[in-house]
Amino acid sequence: MSEVQILASVQQFITRQHGHFIHGQCTDAESSERVALVNPATEQVIATIAVATEHEVDQAVQSAHDAFHHAWADTSPYERGQKLNKLADLVEQHAEELAQLETLTTGKLINLSRHLEVAQTVVFLRYFAGWATKIHGQTMQPSIPSMQGEKYTAYTMRQPIGVVAGIVPWNFSLMIGCWKIGAALTTGCTIVLKPSEFTTLSLLRLAELAIEAGIPAGVINVVTGTGQTGQYLIDSKYIKKVSFTGSVPTGIAIGQQAMKNDLTRVSLELGGKNAAAILADANIDEILPTLLQATFVHQGQVCAAPERFFIHQSKYDEFIEKLTGAIQQFKIGSPLDESTMFGPLSNKAHFDKVKQYLQMAQNNDQVISGGKVLAGIGYFVEPTLLKVTGVDDPLFIEETFGPVVDVIAFESDEELITMMNHSRFGLTASVWSNDLAKALRLIPQIEAGSVWVNMHTFLDPAVPFGGVKASGQGREFSDAFIEDYTELKSVMIRY
Ligand code: NDP
Repeated sequence: MSEVQILASVQQFITRQHGHFIHGQCTDAESSERVALVNPATEQVIATIAVATEHEVDQAVQSAHDAFHHAWADTSPYERGQKLNKLADLVEQHAEELAQLETLTTGKLINLSRHLEVAQTVVFLRYFAGWATKIHGQTMQPSIPSMQGEKYTAYTMRQPIGVVAGIVPWNFSLMIGCWKIGAALTTGCTIVLKPSEFTTLSLLRLAELAIEAGIPAGVINVVTGTGQTGQYLIDSKYIKKVSFTGSVPTGIAIGQQAMKNDLTRVSLELGGKNAAAILADANIDEILPTLLQATFVHQGQVCAAPERFFIHQSKYDEFIEKLTGAIQQFKIGSPLDESTMFGPLSNKAHFDKVKQYLQMAQNNDQVISGGKVLAGIGYFVEPTLLKVTGVDDPLFIEETFGPVVDVIAFESDEELITMMNHSRFGLTASVWSNDLAKALRLIPQIEAGSVWVNMHTFLDPAVPFGGVKASGQGREFSDAFIEDYTELKSVMIRY
């Protein structure tokens, strides 16, 4: 095993006594309460983070509020775009440092941290930067009849909503944090971020880079801590919108809390139990590499990744045999080793949750392949394939958010659609087939915010993303985010 050398700058950063990032600087924490950050591959504590008091959260929001009305409001759309592009440049320059921070705290394979988390962060920031100069209203001709020769005209303008609370999960904290930063800053909003307590470091470092990029103090603030910190943030008086990515129960609680605060806006990107449909004509050898990557990327801890496989009866045995053969070849090991194909789960709480599902599957004799927790140090489990008893099997219903896939056979298209839609979730789905006509007929019937054909788990800034049913509310990316971060003002003029 040969692990990449941890950079001196990373060592230095993780050994700091971290506070919060408020009004352009790292602040000392008011409270002595701290949370330990544990490297999931070694189970060693690598750093601790501060738990924000309500007062600190309010300070951060006040700073964002002031910046919204002054520093950021005085910045032209062109300058906002330039500064986001500059931030993207700095992320690129500090790519290895940020990638290592992510890998140390999440167990993400180092190459995934480099080529997906950090590289995509740059792509998304640049995409959002481009929108700054393209946000506009419309003119319209009112239909009011003219009584005395007077005329009417009307137009709309889009205005930034104000201070946004960005609450971020642990699986891709840098990238998801930057989706929220990009959307907020390009529309003229300011932001206070609350990263997950498990993966706080990369966003604290990013906030420093934002100052280097010339983004004024107060435009991006970071408060660290637990779920309670998130609650203080939502309740803080200048918060105008909550952009949340995380689990369904937390999303529902946040939505209710935000509504009580004079209808604070919310956008919710939540969980899924995503379906992949492998049709009768699919060439298993051709699709398997792409499907495997989409399913087991970051040990399956990706909201968009498939967990339910529906396989046409005629291909079932071949598919199971080949999938089993492929996942048994995964090299499991340290995420800092560039040759590792499969790392640990990201944190102890999640490891314990996935272990329970594996135990349930073992007890019911449902394991086709994998299903075991690896002995020794680290939160390692095997990539796992399960058979289910039917569509109401709890393992088929509940999101594991781990490397656990359930398989079931289908015979007709009607049966396929009924089973795919038998879920409270509706985030993503995919159809694997060369019969494009059939795929095009199935797509409208599938209850999901995103449907892919011969691919899965690919997010692109130009394509809207979000869930239906309990998987969320609102859309990110493309031009769909603009509505969520701006108020539409209507102006009518009589002349
Ligand atoms: P959680 O819902 O537990 O937490 C998400 C964030 O919310 C964390 O920062 C967490 O803080 C914070 N939080 C927890 N409780 C509260 C609260 N009551 N009020 C305000 N904030 C709170 O999700 P996970 O971090 O465990 O992420 C995994 C889940 O996220 C999965 O279900 C997955 O599907 C979903 N997800 C969805 C994505 C999407 O785009 N649809 C993308 C990525 C993940 P803390 O960590 O400190 O508890």
